[in-house]
Amino acid sequence: CGIVGYIGKRQAAPLLVECLSKLEYRGYDSAGVAIINEKGINIEKCKGRLKNLEEKLNQSPIEGTMGIGHTRWATHGEPSDVNSHPHYNKDMTISVVHNGIIENYLELREWLQTLGYEFKSETDTEVVPHLIDYFYEGDIVKAVMKALDKIEGSYALGVVCSHEPDKMVAVRKDSPLIVGLGEGENFIASDIPAILAYTRDVYLLNDKEIVVLTRDKVEIMTKEGLPVQKEVFHVTWDA
Ligand code: GLU
Repeated sequence: CGIVGYIGKRQAAPLLVECLSKLEYRGYDSAGVAIINEKGINIEKCKGRLKNLEEKLNQSPIEGTMGIGHTRWATHGEPSDVNSHPHYNKDMTISVVHNGIIENYLELREWLQTLGYEFKSETDTEVVPHLIDYFYEGDIVKAVMKALDKIEGSYALGVVCSHEPDKMVAVRKDSPLIVGLGEGENFIASDIPAILAYTRDVYLLNDKEIVVLTRDKVEIMTKEGLPVQKEVFHVTWDA
């Protein structure tokens, strides 16, 4: 399983698929991407090999220079198109990729359902976009922080919001996630080989550090919102 994310000036969809292919060694049963463009969030996802996703994207290309991608190793809900990531909220303004397990998802799901949230999938992950939607008041970073307070378990998360189309949010706890630093472009990935063709400068993240990526900047903060200073790790080896 794996997560990747890109914000920059290149076309995101083919780039994300290529980065995901470098994570194939981690194993997966489905794959998907969410691309942000002037139309909003556009999702393509399907069960099976990355090749299937690539073919779908070749048939109906999605333009856009920012997006998140996922390869899934199903833990909750069978491998299927619907259960594939990215998952999203009702009006598709918030989309999420997740590796790991949300331990308290049943409780959260029932609570969200009493509030009128409808679920499309059987995954533990789908509580996350709805939870962020619940807390969203115009600031995606704040909404993610509030959602994290409710979530128990392990996660690497990539989050995008069409109301804030020049920003990506990422966070991890007990699941791997790194940040790749480029020029006018930045990346997230489960592991360094995913992005090594684009950059050798990375940030290694600690649990619960929240990362906010724009094209020109990467900010890291604690879950309380305090800034974190981090050394750039320069990768000298080849994948
Ligand atoms: N628990 C999530 C699911 O089953 C994520 C699995 C993964 O890490 O790929 O959809």
